[in-house]
Amino acid sequence: MPEGDAVWRTARRLHEALADREISLWELRWAELGASDRRGRTTIEVVPRGKHILQRLDDGWTLHSHLRMEGRWAVVPPGGLYHRNRADPFVRALVGSAAAVAIGRRLGMLDLVPTACEPDLVGHLGPDLLGPDWDADRAVANLLGRPGRSLGAALLDQTNLAGIGTMWCAEICFLERVSPWMPVGEVDAGALGAIAARAHRLLAGSLAHRESVSTGNPRRPLFIHGRAGRPCPRCGTPISVAEVGEPQVRRTLHHCPRCQQGATPEDRAPRPGIR
Ligand SMILES: [Zn+2]
Repeated sequence: MPEGDAVWRTARRLHEALADREISLWELRWAELGASDRRGRTTIEVVPRGKHILQRLDDGWTLHSHLRMEGRWAVVPPGGLYHRNRADPFVRALVGSAAAVAIGRRLGMLDLVPTACEPDLVGHLGPDLLGPDWDADRAVANLLGRPGRSLGAALLDQTNLAGIGTMWCAEICFLERVSPWMPVGEVDAGALGAIAARAHRLLAGSLAHRESVSTGNPRRPLFIHGRAGRPCPRCGTPISVAEVGEPQVRRTLHHCPRCQQGATPEDRAPRPGIR
């Protein structure tokens, strides 16, 4: 699943391509939306909200999309590339102006809703790490809402705070030297505040780059994510991978078993009486 900063970059690309321009192409290959037609309308703006993308139109409606695991939006000039993409069976949306065409491929969600009803789609999200509503105190309070849950699962839950995927979760826990399998209620409150502040700083800082960067160096952008078996950059121990989260939403996380303190994956059997 794309991380919050990647969704933010996608929304910015769509905004630059579509905002303030009349829609001349509108083709949604999505069940009941197939009959919709917004040609002639103007896109006001395209904004990210957590991992959701909201394209607001001047008729009071919003095209909402979510990339889920494999979705992506590409922006291409009208012409050859656009025509080649039209035949792609995985394309779910083609929205364009005279200047550019946005192609949504393998999208996980697509809805057309009154802009006033956007809260029905994104109102469940916690404070957005990259949004104007970012509120670290509320994010920490949300994380503590289910103290028996692992820190990793809590950070990945978009209703606590919005924008963290498995990559940022692994990198942040590594940098804060805490195990993602630690019950969130056992993490020191100050440490949780530091984790939230780190998350905000890293995602915001990453917007200056073309891809997510936690190290400050785009040529070697990440410390541990995707580096299973390679030496930990801090202590040299091979980086491990293990699952985190409830069975239905289990995800894999990279971690250093030596220098991230707290529970190990084996410790995370359910504890009776703790939610
Ligand atoms: Zn280490």
